[in-house]
Amino acid sequence: MFKKILIANRGEVALRILRACQEMGIQTVMVYSQADADSKPVRLADASVCIGPAPSKDSYLNMQAIISAAEVCGVDAIHPGVGFLAENSQFAGMVEDHGIAFIGPKPEHIDLMGDKISAKDTVQRLGIPVVPGSDGEVVDLEDAQRLAEAIGYPVLIKAAAGGGGKGMKVAQSADKLEEAYRFARTEAKACFGNDQVYMEKYLGKPRHIEMQILADTFGNAIHLCERDCSIQRNHQKVWEEAPSPVITDVQRKELGEIVSKAISTLGYRGAGTIEFLYENGEFFFIEMNTRIQVEHPITEMITGVDIVREQIRIAAGEKLSLTQDDVKIRGHAIECRVNAEDPETFMPSPGLIENYHAPGGLGVRVDSHIYAGYRMPPHYDSLAAKLIIHADDREQCIARVRRAIDEYVITGIKTLLPLHRRLADAPTVISGDYDIHWLENWLKDDGDESQAAEDMKKVA
Ligand code: ADP
Repeated sequence: MFKKILIANRGEVALRILRACQEMGIQTVMVYSQADADSKPVRLADASVCIGPAPSKDSYLNMQAIISAAEVCGVDAIHPGVGFLAENSQFAGMVEDHGIAFIGPKPEHIDLMGDKISAKDTVQRLGIPVVPGSDGEVVDLEDAQRLAEAIGYPVLIKAAAGGGGKGMKVAQSADKLEEAYRFARTEAKACFGNDQVYMEKYLGKPRHIEMQILADTFGNAIHLCERDCSIQRNHQKVWEEAPSPVITDVQRKELGEIVSKAISTLGYRGAGTIEFLYENGEFFFIEMNTRIQVEHPITEMITGVDIVREQIRIAAGEKLSLTQDDVKIRGHAIECRVNAEDPETFMPSPGLIENYHAPGGLGVRVDSHIYAGYRMPPHYDSLAAKLIIHADDREQCIARVRRAIDEYVITGIKTLLPLHRRLADAPTVISGDYDIHWLENWLKDDGDESQAAEDMKKVA
């Protein structure tokens, strides 16, 4: 097993990885930017190295600085966390070229899945169902027009290099296609430096369902059940659940077997998530993330598997610590993303945290790096905390979400806690009968359920 791991990330995910390392008796090195000098993971790590100023491009994305820190500190492995360099194959390759283990997949698998066109093509060949759409890149407007007619409107233009919901635009009808096509290409170029786009049928009322997988270097691959991340705003997940309120045991087993087999055939290594849209009883692949996800804790709560620990063990050349038969689902879990944002306008709200009291009690887990007196810097994403609730069933889980939020005190900054509290009371959330468009309609109608339902009919 590794003796020392460098954590190339920040915030709550850095703390999450640090906790796993400490429990495994592994020394930790945190790299940090000048804006994060007093952050909790930096304080708790065995050693820390400042790698540059606040802007990510000069610190958390500075590969050379991170590798230098790793060499100076003599680490055996680097965990990239979520975001920043987690899905950068060049970084993964550089790490391995320096004789350091990269806690993640092989660089070629990061590349394969990082390009959504090659990802779709690959998984389709491995027997995974995909969203109907273009066969590869859409090369020009004429191509787009011809394809859209064949697929049928509405269609979605998506960036091949996409992520975070960027470079994506719907065309409801033929007269809107040119605008959508140009918008997606321009945004893709601006965000990813790559303007390649492809086309998919735009699904009117899908749910977002994703499968957590783990694979070791001995060809063993398992799945840890699905997560339902349909409650979204701007294609960003807000509230996640595991298991999904609408997936049956038979569907879970069938899909799980397909993805595990595909992952094993691919020779994939580490943790990953295969994302699907689910509509009318059918699953359609949209993308694979070759890293842990922000919402991984809900899977940990219902399966009891420490996913970060498994990642570290796999990277150290050990076998998975469990087989598919050992995976048992217990109860229900919900994650509320407590972003430092105004719950009405969603404007970021960084700054000084004056008071902080986290909730506790049975089934309550808070993954957060914030504390009273901590100043959330404005330079990074707004995730302040993840409230993760586990209970024997979904109804008790939602009741526990309400209780935990009522107990949670964060002052000085605005957070999404009030929004989550309203969600926990919303009849549609309680019924579990929501899709990826529901939250935006509900917000637009200021929580008026009947109006949101009317809007949904229009979308469909
Ligand atoms: P990103 O990598 O930018 O997150 P994804 O392909 O994972 O992009 O899609 C993000 C979200 O966009 C999905 O969760 C879903 O809400 C929406 N979406 C993606 N593809 C489609 C589609 N074909 N039809 C309808 N919505 C879609």
